[in-house]
Order: sequence, then C-alpha cells, then structure tokens
Amino acid sequence: MISCFKKRGISMKDPRLAKAWKNLSQYSKSDKISLSQFQDIFSHEFSFLEHIAGNHLVVPDFVDFREKIESIYSKVEQCHDGEVASYIPQLARVDPEKFAVSICTIDGQVINLGDFDELLCVQSSCKPINYCLALEEHGLEKVHSHIGHEPSGQSFNELSLNSKGLPHNPLINSGAIMACSLIKPNLSIADRFDHVLTTWKKVTNSTSVGFNNSVYLSERETADRNYALAYFMRENNAFPEGTNLEKTLEFYFQCCSIETNTKNLAVLAATLANGGLNPFSNEKVFESSTIKNCLSLMNSCGMYDYSGEFSFHIGLPAKSGVSGVVYVVVPNTLGICIWSPRLDKHGNSVRAIQFCKELTKTFLFHNYDSLVTEQQDKINPRLVEEHEAAGKVQQLCYAAARGDTQYIQSLLIRGVDINSKDYDKRTPLHLAVCEGQFEAVKYLILHGADLLAKDRWGRCPLDEVKDSQSQAIKSWVKAWSPKVKATSKERSKKTGSKKSRTGIVEA
Ligand code: GLU
Repeated sequence: MISCFKKRGISMKDPRLAKAWKNLSQYSKSDKISLSQFQDIFSHEFSFLEHIAGNHLVVPDFVDFREKIESIYSKVEQCHDGEVASYIPQLARVDPEKFAVSICTIDGQVINLGDFDELLCVQSSCKPINYCLALEEHGLEKVHSHIGHEPSGQSFNELSLNSKGLPHNPLINSGAIMACSLIKPNLSIADRFDHVLTTWKKVTNSTSVGFNNSVYLSERETADRNYALAYFMRENNAFPEGTNLEKTLEFYFQCCSIETNTKNLAVLAATLANGGLNPFSNEKVFESSTIKNCLSLMNSCGMYDYSGEFSFHIGLPAKSGVSGVVYVVVPNTLGICIWSPRLDKHGNSVRAIQFCKELTKTFLFHNYDSLVTEQQDKINPRLVEEHEAAGKVQQLCYAAARGDTQYIQSLLIRGVDINSKDYDKRTPLHLAVCEGQFEAVKYLILHGADLLAKDRWGRCPLDEVKDSQSQAIKSWVKAWSPKVKATSKERSKKTGSKKSRTGIVEA
C-alpha cells in the first residue's frame, strides 16, 4: 500500500492520512491485520483510499510526470544567470544558489525538489491573496471602484495611475497598497495582519507560515517609493474614505514580509487551481468566482513587465516576487512554486522563467494548447475519466456528423482516439461520410481515421463513401486512396507491413 501511495505521489505525511497512521500505531510491526481491522484503521479515509487505489487522481501516471519534472529541474539548475535583489540587505544576503521546485495537484499529489523546506520571503506574491480577501469582503464592484484591471505597461512600482486616477491593477505596488486599505479597515493593524495570516494558513493548510521581522523593518526603512505612490493616490482621492495612509502602508509591508517555503506555496497555488478548495483540508477558502477574477489578473499582470510575454509563451496565470519566488497555476490540475533568488532585468527569477518554458514545452499546459493539433511531442498528464472519455467519444462523433472540424481538433488534442467507436461501433468517419461533411471527412482521413473500420453491421466508412450522395467526398477519397497505397507500399517495402495507416490492406 505504501508503495502505491508513493507511486501516485501521495506523501506519507499527507494530512489526510494522519488519523490512519495514528490508528495504525496501536499495532506492532509484526501484527497481522485482518480486513475488518484494516477497515477500522482507514474508516475515515475510505473514499480517499479508493481514489488512490483506483488511480482516479488528476495525474494518473505520476511516476512518469515526476521523472520529467526532475529532468527539467536538473536542466534548469545549470543556469547561474541573473542578480539577487539588493534593495534591502535581507534579500541581498540570500544564497543565490538556492533552488526549489514544489508541485501539488488538486488531488494532493506532491513533488518537492531542492531547497523546498527553506524559508523564503513571499514579497509581491502576497498580492493575489490580498486581492482575493478584498474581493470577498467588498465584492467586485466596490474593489474595482478603487483599482483597475489593466496591465500597467510600466514597472511594478511606477509612479503612475490610470485615466480614472486609480492604480492600474491589484498586482503592482500601488494596487496592492489599495487592496490593503480595503481589508478589514476597522480593525487594528495587528488584527488585520492576523486575518491575512490565518488565510495563508488555510490556503496552504499549514501552520508554518510566519513573518520575517527584519525584512519588514528594512522594507519600512526603504519605502520612499511606496510612500510616494500612496500620497499620489491620496492626492487623486483614490482611497476609500477614512483610510489611514501610514497604517495601510505598515500593513502592506507586513504582508510582503510573510515567510514560508515552496512546499506551502505549491499548496496555495493548488488551492487556486482547485477553485479555492484546499486539496488537503477540503476547506473552501475562497469562492470560485473570486479565484476566477484573481487568476485572470495573474494571467495578464502577475509577472511584472514580462507579463504579456509570459502569458504569450507560457499561457498560465502566475505571480512573481522579488525574492525570486514564482507560483504558477494550471487550472483544474495543479499548482507549482519555483524559488531561485537570481533575477532577470524584469525582476523575475531567471530559473523560474526557464523552468516554466521547459514545462510548457513538455506538457500540454498552455491555456490554448488544446487548439493546436500538431503537438504530438507534448504530453497531457491529466486523467481522462472513463465516463468522461465515453462522453468525449460521443462528442467526437457528434462533431464529425456536424462537420465541426475545429471541435474535432480540440477533442483529438485532448487525447480522444480518432478511431473510437460509439455503441454501434460507428466511428467519427462513418458519421462524417454519411452526413456528407466533406471538410470533416478530409480532416479525419488526413489525421489517421480508418476507412476500413467495421461497424456492428460490418459496414466500413469506405462502404459509406461508395453510397454517398456527395460527389466531392467520392472523388476526394478516390483520388486520395492511391496516394496512401503508394506510400504504404513504400513503407511496407521497408517494414514488411501490409497495412497502411488507414487500414487499407494492400492487394
Ligand atoms: N516589498 C516590495 C515593494 O513593495 C515588493 C517587491 C516585489 O516583490 O515586487 O517594493
């Protein structure tokens, strides 16, 4: 059982198993446990165990996934480019060689590599959480009457406001200071900070989220720009009425000085990937609509001046901090946190950017990967459930019958077999031919659909072509078939095979 947990990426320290291990500790190692005792031990976690044993986890082949992540980690580790942030001594003193990658799926499968237990200062990566807190307290309209939702197109601490005199978005300094002004404004700063810290403990499902006092003191001492931003916003009447500027800034510096490790930040990112539901505690920390808004902004504004490029190349919501931390969200799948203190000219960790590039080169994680068919070299590590798969086959057949080639493309990229069959063993190609969908027929054949697949009555798509009303389909298939025969003859000379890609047997 333990090896099964390991294989699936379930940690022995998984909090969902804590009760079971406690129950088990009553027995000695040599005890033989009966089935009913086993059921007692795991009585609270039975559905969780079923989930693991049946391998219904979001990344089913976790061994392969882990191997690929480890190989990306080793590759990226070779890079020593960039400079550590030096505007405060606490960041300047961090060992530039530190490197950690943590991953947590929405089912709580984990990978932790390198310095994942080391404490790091979250800096700007606190901003999405504060934005979520402000949203849940006041709602979208109120929050965005004080903050915009556009990328600023300028540096994260630029002294500039949008055309309404508001900060551009909540993920740059001015907007984050504004978000702080909205969080529990009637409480003392101590209680406001406790409120934030409690939320961090919930999203990470961990008590090891702390505060670095020396970072906080340094931040406060070198805060001219943040003061300037706050005064500039006050001059423009951007703050909610009654805002105490000094206290708001103090509160902002405290939030930037929160300290934790990549292990916890990956769980935070997984909670975002899971629509606000923590995978370990099952607690709904934020509403799904809050997460949707937060991820949208992380997608467009989370990576400083590189946000547009990041969204273009990587296509995932992420947030970066000047300590060299980046967390990335693959919605409905997993969260990743990378930490390496050397930064590029935009203030993003060099290794983290490289890691993300390699990640989306290897896996079908970019937001719009599903639109592109010619990416056979990329892997989709996600689970396709049986009933989901059956539903997808239906959808593929229906799309073929309707001639919706774009949807056919997107289903194929999600791993649906082009030659899958419906209840009557009819393939998408049978249906496309019968419905006279010329473009879909062409597309399916060119992508490997089998013209000789027999349905339950023994009819194949080629029989349907012969009976088709569509002259276009008839002539195209006729003109195309000899080409296949020619190439497959060539191929069969090399391989000795008698069957072509479409299943046409050579005479
Ligand atoms: N504490 C930093 C500031 O407010 C945040 C830096 C960052 O991570 O972007 O200037």
